[in-house]
Amino acid sequence: MSDTMRAVLEEMARSPLLRSDGRLKMQFWISREEVRRRTVRSGAWAGLAVYVLFAFLDLVIVPDAAHLTIPGRLIGSIVTVACLEITFRQGASADALDRVAAFFLFTIFQIWIWTSSQTVHAELFAYYVLFGNIFMAGATLFFTFRVPLSLLCCGGILATMVYALFLSTAFSATLKVLHVLFYVSCFVFTLIVNVRINAERYRTFLNETLSRLHQQEVEDRGAELLTLTNTDYLTGVENRRSLDTGLEAAWQDWREAQQPFSATLIDVDHFKKFNDGNGHVRGDDCLKTVARVLSRVVMARDGRIGRYGGEEFMAIARVRDEADAVAFGEELRAAVEAGRIDHGYRLDGTSIVTVSVGLGFTGARAPHTVERLVTEADQALYAAKESGRNAVVLYDPDDPLHNDASEATAALLKQALELSLLSLAYQPIVNVATGRIEGVEALMRLRTPDGAAISPADFIPVAERTGAIVPLGRWALLTVCRDILAPGLVPLASVNVSAVQLQMRGFSMQVAAILMETGVPGHRLALEITEGRRMEIDATVLKTIRELKDLGVRIWLDDFGTGFAGLSWLRTIGFDKVKIDKSFLYAADHPEGRTLLEDIITLIRRRGATILVEGVETEEQLAFMRATGVDEAQGYYLGRPAGIEAAMGIPPFVGDEAHAPFAAVRV
Ligand code: C2E
Ligand code: MG
Ligand code: MG
Repeated sequence: MSDTMRAVLEEMARSPLLRSDGRLKMQFWISREEVRRRTVRSGAWAGLAVYVLFAFLDLVIVPDAAHLTIPGRLIGSIVTVACLEITFRQGASADALDRVAAFFLFTIFQIWIWTSSQTVHAELFAYYVLFGNIFMAGATLFFTFRVPLSLLCCGGILATMVYALFLSTAFSATLKVLHVLFYVSCFVFTLIVNVRINAERYRTFLNETLSRLHQQEVEDRGAELLTLTNTDYLTGVENRRSLDTGLEAAWQDWREAQQPFSATLIDVDHFKKFNDGNGHVRGDDCLKTVARVLSRVVMARDGRIGRYGGEEFMAIARVRDEADAVAFGEELRAAVEAGRIDHGYRLDGTSIVTVSVGLGFTGARAPHTVERLVTEADQALYAAKESGRNAVVLYDPDDPLHNDASEATAALLKQALELSLLSLAYQPIVNVATGRIEGVEALMRLRTPDGAAISPADFIPVAERTGAIVPLGRWALLTVCRDILAPGLVPLASVNVSAVQLQMRGFSMQVAAILMETGVPGHRLALEITEGRRMEIDATVLKTIRELKDLGVRIWLDDFGTGFAGLSWLRTIGFDKVKIDKSFLYAADHPEGRTLLEDIITLIRRRGATILVEGVETEEQLAFMRATGVDEAQGYYLGRPAGIEAAMGIPPFVGDEAHAPFAAVRV
């Protein structure tokens, strides 16, 4: 209950004569101010009309003084009305107007009495004085004087009446006393009526105030409840339910009025690490700060911001076009970066909290449903994370990762195992010095039911995004162990594993189970981890890698140099082998590229890992490998990825990758 409501209730509980809450009284008079101002004006006009009409009575009762009373009435009325009108128009307060009205009420009564006192009909004049009672009643009837003013004005009229009566010689003393008693009674009654009317008005005001406060309280509670159900308890921004409503509304505006907007997903980079390293309390603080920073940017665009779940936020804002959408995303990203919240547990060379931003946009290429728009923002967010985080990506329908083909691939991947659409191709890994095949790398292949090949560059990212990589990766491991390693076709095979698999709890157990099931010793299996941008080397990943190493499994770093985390990874994980990405080999055509490759080789050698260079396509490249002392090489020149038949030395696999089975290795 509010203080005002409590004060009103206490005031109402008091007896009408004891009500004395100064603040409420003041509010009461303020609330009546305009009504009172108008009442004075209309009261004056009505009262004076009656006053002037009494001129007819003058002609009957005091005709000999009518030449004084009638002009007196007229002049008194005109002056009163003029003064009141001027005061009213000057915007005087109700109290001031009341005082002017009271003064003139008293004055025109004096005019009436003293002009009519000039009559010779002394007895009739004595009765005429009685009309002073009507003046007193008028003070209450036509005006709304406060009690003290009423007391003063009516007291003045009463005194005039008594004085005039006592000057009169018409009445006996007894009659005069009776008349005075009558006057005083009228005076008292008038005052009582005045007090009661004012008390009644005050009571009405208190009742109205109370019901208004009740109403206000109900509305406030309703608004509070609404805010509560629409607010994220932690950060104070909107919650998901509220965002859904906001999305619907924005979508409606877009459909009906073609007002384009963007649904923007914002994810705090490496938040899990932040939480694990800094503790949950600081994690919560971090989310609150990020929410505050994002809010500022979004509010400047008159948009909405909310927590979509975990460390993910969504902003909904009007944007003009695709460029403006990207600019908005960049504002959000830059604002968080500028906040410079200390992270301390990232291993990618950044020490502050950053966000990745994915935007879905309506406009010429808008999707058909709002749900799809959110999916697009989600895919863009995924791409932003892919590109190294702390990045902004606008959904692009032309991007192979985002288009319908990728949706079809996702659907295909779901049935890939069941319909046997998967296979593995094997590419030899060759010892540069001896020319011996040290092992093979297993590369996954996917075909549609009608036999068309889909490139790993297309289906692997989709499998990672949809999570299909988990069963597919398990299948690859099992197939390699069972079909290649267990029969002893090659001494060693490497399998590519995705970050999604490594981050999955129980991955090392899965590998152990496969090794046990197939009877393959761990040291014959190598796992290639791509230096991707999505992978966070957190405690789970490090533990998994340790357990895998305990099993004897080799851990290789794939595509070294394509990301930015490679160096810190090299420091954190003791890789058995580092595979240098083929782009460095191709860049070695130029002297600077050559120096760079040599520097990289020196650097890795210092870390004690075996060095493999990928993508050897020519004799010259192989010669260069020999010259630089690279340990191993892989490439079309040494052997293209081929079917299992080729690996087993039986008639080569017939297909586009069967041109160079292992037999054709040239060293
Ligand atoms: P990666 O692991 O770096 O595999 C090497 C890629 O280079 C293979 O492409 C291979 O066909 C290609 N390559 C080999 N020699 C040469 C050469 O001399 N010149 C050129 N230009 N390319 C050569 P592929 O098979 O298309 O695989 C692409 C990527 O897909 C792989 O790169 C790997 O990251 C991923 N991938 C393939 N199979 C799997 C898998 O089973 N699991 C996971 N998670 N990823 C896989
Ligand atoms: Mg590989
Ligand atoms: Mg590679």
